[in-house]
Amino acid sequence: MPPFGQFIGGAFVPSTSGSTVDVVNPATEEVIAQVPEGSVEDVDAAVAAAVAAKTDWAAKTPKDRSTVLLRIADIIEANREVFETLEAANTGKPAAVTEDDISSAIDTFRFSAGATRAFTTLGADDYAENHTSVIFREPVGVVGVITPWNYPLLMAAWKIAPILGAGNTLVLKPSEQTPLTTLKLAELIASELPAGVLNIVTGPGRVVGNRLSEHPDVDLVAITGSVGSGQKVASSAASTVKRVHLELGGKAPVVVFDDADLEAAAKGVRSAGFWNGGQECGAACRVLVHESVAEKFTELLVREVSEISVGAPGAGDDVEIGSMISKAHYERVLAALDDVRKDGLRIAVGGNALEGPGYFIEPTVVTDVPAGAAIASTEIFGPVVSVETFSTDEEAITRANETIYGLAASVWTTNASRSLSVPRKLDFGTVWVNSHLVIANEVPWGGFKGSGYGRDLSIYALEDFSRTKHVMYNRD
Ligand code: NAD
Repeated sequence: MPPFGQFIGGAFVPSTSGSTVDVVNPATEEVIAQVPEGSVEDVDAAVAAAVAAKTDWAAKTPKDRSTVLLRIADIIEANREVFETLEAANTGKPAAVTEDDISSAIDTFRFSAGATRAFTTLGADDYAENHTSVIFREPVGVVGVITPWNYPLLMAAWKIAPILGAGNTLVLKPSEQTPLTTLKLAELIASELPAGVLNIVTGPGRVVGNRLSEHPDVDLVAITGSVGSGQKVASSAASTVKRVHLELGGKAPVVVFDDADLEAAAKGVRSAGFWNGGQECGAACRVLVHESVAEKFTELLVREVSEISVGAPGAGDDVEIGSMISKAHYERVLAALDDVRKDGLRIAVGGNALEGPGYFIEPTVVTDVPAGAAIASTEIFGPVVSVETFSTDEEAITRANETIYGLAASVWTTNASRSLSVPRKLDFGTVWVNSHLVIANEVPWGGFKGSGYGRDLSIYALEDFSRTKHVMYNRD
């Protein structure tokens, strides 16, 4: 366990609120830790620490900041088991997911270390008579970060690495439900960073997250979370005209054409629809399949999904999905399944809660879903995949785009022309062809429309967490 406290100015300190938040293991329903319930005063202290540290950190060379990021990657790798165990205990994830989370977090720090050195001044040239222009990328200053519960350490890594690489200091608020690995990271890397460069304030979004969003000394606020929370952050940020970076929800369509390799598509939905129990913003949760192959595809998908084994962390190597994150979320997913039954849709497999303790739900496939049904348009964020049919390419594209979300989609086809044309017509920040949910640090991740704006990962994240300055010299 990390030490008790919030990480402010290089030390673990209690909250001025004097209150705590229980941290629960959702696979056992036991309280496993308590963390401070952060206050407005705690945020103010953390922001003051980040402001005090920002000039020195920004003045370091890219090489120096890159060296720190590489050291952080090495520290996470050396403590891989600690992070995996803690993440599993706080989220109920199976080993396959925690191992992937920690490996990906390590790679994010390594990628950002390299990118930091490659990403500096944009260039210099003469554009006006007798004048020379130099275009600089500068740090933004102090960045406020708000993370969700579905990939606690990984979502923190996606922000911390490029934000520090680009020369900013930051104050991060983890989800109140899953703060443990972020606090543990702060403990283990404290000696690598000057005090105040990284600060962690735990506690509720409406207090800590809101204060970060409205704080006059926070220059940019970045949130990964639901659309509703993103709207509140953007609205609070407007009072100080600060920049906002939003990675919000998703409802990814999976468009399966009549020429697709149906077995590959069914296997793809099994893994990408149910990864992390479907608690994944890019989950392959909404299938649109051509009517001529719908029966065959559904049969294959149901067979795949019936084989998925559900269990607590450590229950066996073959466990693919763990528990829902909390009682409240488990009840939300079950209520959505009740609505599916009330709407008269067919549950082809699953559909029920599993016996506790722990918040487990059967992997579920809902079929015969009509256009516009709630199950196909609302983010369920659980182990539930819905299947709709279409008859023409135009209908598939129109229906896939008929969603408030625009994070990710996939297209399954063996037709070269379709594989080139359809992705360009889909309104999603990432489109996979004959694949789904494969993510790499070199390529950008982020949405369109209600899924937000701003990009995580890749060189684009460093761009988002920096500002552009033009200096023009009169040569006379
Ligand atoms: P959430 O919106 O409930 O919480 C996310 C974070 O926002 C938490 O830290 C929370 O405390 C904070 N928050 C809540 N209200 C706030 C407010 N008024 N002001 C400031 N902060 C506030 O989301 P969640 O349930 O933790 O995570 C699931 C959601 O995150 C899903 O919608 C999912 O799609 C999305 N998500 C998106 C991505 C992406 O890359 N686009 C990645 C992971 C998760």
